[in-house]
Amino acid sequence: MSENKDFLRSIVEEDLKSGKFNKITTRFPPEPNGFPHIGHAKSICINFGIAEDYKGHCNLRMDDTNPTTEDTKYVEALKDAVQWLGFNWEGNVRFTSDYFDQIHDYAIALIKMGKAYVDSTNEEEMREFRGTVTQAGKRSPFAERSIEENLELFEKMKKGEFKDGEHVLRAKIDMSAANMKMRDPLLYRIRHAHHFRAGNKWSIYPMYDFAHCLSDYIEGVSHSICTLEFENNRDIYNWVLDTLKLTPPRPYQHEFARLGINYTVMSKRKLLELVEGGQVSGWDDPRLPTIAGYKRRGYTAESIITFCEQIGIAKANSMVDVAQLEFCIRDDLNTKVPRVMCVLEPLKVTIVNYEGKEELDASYYPEDVPKEGSRKLPFSKEIYIERDDFIETPPKGYFRLTPEQPVRLKHAYIITCKEVIKDTEGKIIEIKAEYNLASKSGSDSSGIKVKSAIHWVEAKTAKEVEVRLYDRLFKEEAPEGIEDVNPDSLKVIKKALIEPAVINEKPDERFQFERQGYFYADPIDYTDETPVFNKTVGLKDSWGKKKKIPTQSAPKLKKEQIDGEVVAMSESEQALFDQYISLSISYEIANTLARDEKLSHFYKEAYDDFKVQMGDIQAPTSLANIVANEIARELKEKNELKCTPKQVSELAKMIDDKTISNKIAKQVFEEMLKSGDNPAQIVKAKGLIQISDPSEISPIIDEIIAKNPENVEKFKAGNTKLLGFFVGQVLKATGGKANPQVVNKLVAEKLK
Ligand code: ATP
Ligand code: MG
Repeated sequence: MSENKDFLRSIVEEDLKSGKFNKITTRFPPEPNGFPHIGHAKSICINFGIAEDYKGHCNLRMDDTNPTTEDTKYVEALKDAVQWLGFNWEGNVRFTSDYFDQIHDYAIALIKMGKAYVDSTNEEEMREFRGTVTQAGKRSPFAERSIEENLELFEKMKKGEFKDGEHVLRAKIDMSAANMKMRDPLLYRIRHAHHFRAGNKWSIYPMYDFAHCLSDYIEGVSHSICTLEFENNRDIYNWVLDTLKLTPPRPYQHEFARLGINYTVMSKRKLLELVEGGQVSGWDDPRLPTIAGYKRRGYTAESIITFCEQIGIAKANSMVDVAQLEFCIRDDLNTKVPRVMCVLEPLKVTIVNYEGKEELDASYYPEDVPKEGSRKLPFSKEIYIERDDFIETPPKGYFRLTPEQPVRLKHAYIITCKEVIKDTEGKIIEIKAEYNLASKSGSDSSGIKVKSAIHWVEAKTAKEVEVRLYDRLFKEEAPEGIEDVNPDSLKVIKKALIEPAVINEKPDERFQFERQGYFYADPIDYTDETPVFNKTVGLKDSWGKKKKIPTQSAPKLKKEQIDGEVVAMSESEQALFDQYISLSISYEIANTLARDEKLSHFYKEAYDDFKVQMGDIQAPTSLANIVANEIARELKEKNELKCTPKQVSELAKMIDDKTISNKIAKQVFEEMLKSGDNPAQIVKAKGLIQISDPSEISPIIDEIIAKNPENVEKFKAGNTKLLGFFVGQVLKATGGKANPQVVNKLVAEKLK
């Protein structure tokens, strides 16, 4: 459970304590008239999450009272979304339509109490009679009908003897109520329409305000959680249940703020317009904010849940930056997926002094990721690099291959350009280069300095794949709909080249394509003849920066260059950069540190301390990471720091000597910022030391294996992806304290 309790959980706890309820029941009640979106994910996380936290249960109920817009395919999509997010509903899926008979009986009961009447005024009159916020309304003359007459008319409505709109059933409440919703709200209307489940049985359908509270009551719901726009409906909710004097316990409604995200639309109606208008390929188009779309794009359920937890639950509507969601998926995939090489726009390079061929060993994961696995990378004299990674007359600060500047081929050698071959129109079609044998990755003794490593593929063994690059579907921060669609939101590259292991060995479905972003094998269109990969998210938030670049003054470069490298470094920055690179700090981190004076100062002080403690053979990568990410963020947001370089050095040391995991380090860092305490103090006080002892971890794994027999079966039947599930459960059970590497190994052994 999240540590900071939200207001809904506070209410639930209060209700349990006071004995108002002794069991918590919630429900997620979508209308099956469209595919669920990320807003629904928030509601799903809240409803199922609260039920889980308080050992209650949560129902999945289709609020199917509007026959003209609903369909089974939406029911299936809703079920799929809930399951994919990892939740289980109690019992069968429920349908409001299953309660139509009961709801109808309650309507009759209200009529018999003189609390409901059949109104026959037309729509226009009805509106007029309702009054305004400042003016009381007038009751319809039909409100004077006798109970008998009302019963008879209502029965005829039900039998289908009237046309749509001829009559309605209304509650008799108060035509001068300050809350306009209480001015005799509609309970039933006539609809001669086929219902996807009830068929043609009904000619009348209950309104949301009548059906919802009663469905909640019928199901024994304790907390009926909905979004803020239903605040004024709460009075009707209570009126119906109170007036019918239903035996307690009865449900109570609580409202929270709806999720809105910039650069997207979030109403099923608007999404349907895009689907029907052909702006997207379907409800599962990877550009849509639907769960099906995110799923197809390669988002993980974990990242969406993390996002929902991060944004929290509030009482006031607000707009969340889509970059936050993108951050969550990037952060999740960063440590999970293999890193491979794919060239999107190939440029041929012939290495003139290389003969024969070889296979290079290349790990799928960087060192700081607790996962193992590697593949062979074929290498020969003909390779392809990214067209952008060579420029003949580079701007200042360009770090990749030029006629003067060598570059490292990732996992391979350093090459130097010898000749540029062009076609008759002057377009570069090939580079002739030389490699340096002594520069082999992992045992480089060449002494050649390079400023970056680029990705590449070997020409003969590379596989052709289709790559679909997605950008935001809308150009506007607050889009209205179709008119704001970004025409460049999809770019298809038909013939990208990928290293062969990805296709032959299929080590995963999700990948980081080095330097390009995260990609996912399209679950629908991928075939062995034409493998298709969807871009899930880029490696960094390039959109924010892109926006700020004034178009007139931006040099004519591809956007990747604009994002990262166009501004030249000063001499002193360059010196720092080279120094960082020589300490095995990654290019990105070195770039961030070198270009920011405050950061590089902070880093220097911290590193001086770190060196004393750890000796200078230890690569300060954790330290550099913390400074370039966490410290940078703090300085940007707050412009002041509560922690010292020495404390940060201490924290990095604890990560490196495996006292704490990276995950716990984040938690410790947050605490350092708050309290100013030393990390060692915090770790000790909170008991956060990493657990690496197998004898301590083993029993926890056993317990989790015992609790999840179904997943064990599935794993043994070949669903190896469930390994991650088990590891995740163990980490969760230990509050993130178990050493992930040890857990991984033990779980794999035990499940064998
Ligand atoms: P839409 O406007 O997209 O059609 P809706 O509210 O009509 O959404 P329902 O199917 O009635 O959709 O919603 C099911 C549940 O999901 C409701 O409890 C609703 O409050 C919640 N929900 C819908 N959209 C959001 C959102 N953007 N943020 C949080 N919860 C939402
Ligand atoms: Mg709705």
